[in-house]
Amino acid sequence: MPINELEAQSFHWLVDMLESVEVGLVVLDLEFRVQAWNGFMENHSGITASKIRNQVLFELFPDIPKAWLTRKVDSVALLNTRAFTSWEQRPYLFRFRNTRPITGTEDHMFQNLTISPLSGSTGQVEKICLMVYDVTDIATGKRALERANEQLAKLSMTDLLTGLLNRGTWENLVDAEFERFRRYGQATSLVMFDIDFFKKVNDTHGHLAGDEVIKHTAETARSNLRQSDSIGRYGGEEFGVVLPETDAEGARIICERIRDAIEKSVVQTSVAPVRYTVSVGIAQLTDRPKNHMKWMQQADEALYAAKKNGRNCVVVFE
Ligand code: GH3
Ligand code: MG
Ligand code: MG
Repeated sequence: MPINELEAQSFHWLVDMLESVEVGLVVLDLEFRVQAWNGFMENHSGITASKIRNQVLFELFPDIPKAWLTRKVDSVALLNTRAFTSWEQRPYLFRFRNTRPITGTEDHMFQNLTISPLSGSTGQVEKICLMVYDVTDIATGKRALERANEQLAKLSMTDLLTGLLNRGTWENLVDAEFERFRRYGQATSLVMFDIDFFKKVNDTHGHLAGDEVIKHTAETARSNLRQSDSIGRYGGEEFGVVLPETDAEGARIICERIRDAIEKSVVQTSVAPVRYTVSVGIAQLTDRPKNHMKWMQQADEALYAAKKNGRNCVVVFE
């Protein structure tokens, strides 16, 4: 076979490969007129190569950020070097539909982009090649992971049943509030409360009904508190609240309101209607406790006194 024919044949294969490769290939002249447009681009845009040839890219794709791409292409042509952009900087250049309708959570294709200079025989950059990589799988995977991590971070701070802060997170807040008091000294109160005769609720109506009562307690307390108050589930049916900028008297009023709301309510559990009460202990922070644990012990002592007093009442630590 003559050399020329051999060359022509391998050129033919090359073009065939570029046509069918799973990467978008676009050749532009320096006026952004399309010179080449491979099969990937045809399939995803629905525009054939013959139709787009010599058309200005921005006229067919008005969504493409013209100023941005012009700046990129200019510097590639000027410096005669490649440029690369990832989906994390700009999710896509061509708005193509996501071709994975089942697993896809996003409705468009994420793309990485390489912009390469193509030189003519004189060594001058005459054309520009865009390579468009479909990175939807990587991008959606990474986004899903980020969302899962966010959710995990939130979950590890909150209690699953009630959505309140869990014990560890809440105790850290008590500690932080204790330190803030040392520095600024505003009135701050700590509340501990516990459901009365909760064992009887469990024994009579079952553990699931018990859980519903715990949830009801959390909701009632939360709806009677301010945004700045921090409420946590301290134990099974024990709760703690930090009340910033609140003295013991203010705390007593808030706690009375919660105690009263619970006494008056009836929880319509899936088993039976349940009535119940709570006992509450309050400790306003003073200079006496040496650490936040001691402060919590004071509130707990007040709670113990409320239980001894006959329950369904609020006691302030003296
Ligand atoms: P008191 O008035 O003295 O507080 O009496 P009580 O029966 O409420 O006694 P206590 O506070 O010691 O009761 C705790 C009970 O709460 C024991 C445990 O079985 C139950 N409990 C702890 N965690 C959960 C939970 O998540 N769900 C349910 N349903 N019960 C729980
Ligand atoms: Mg109890
Ligand atoms: Mg208890």
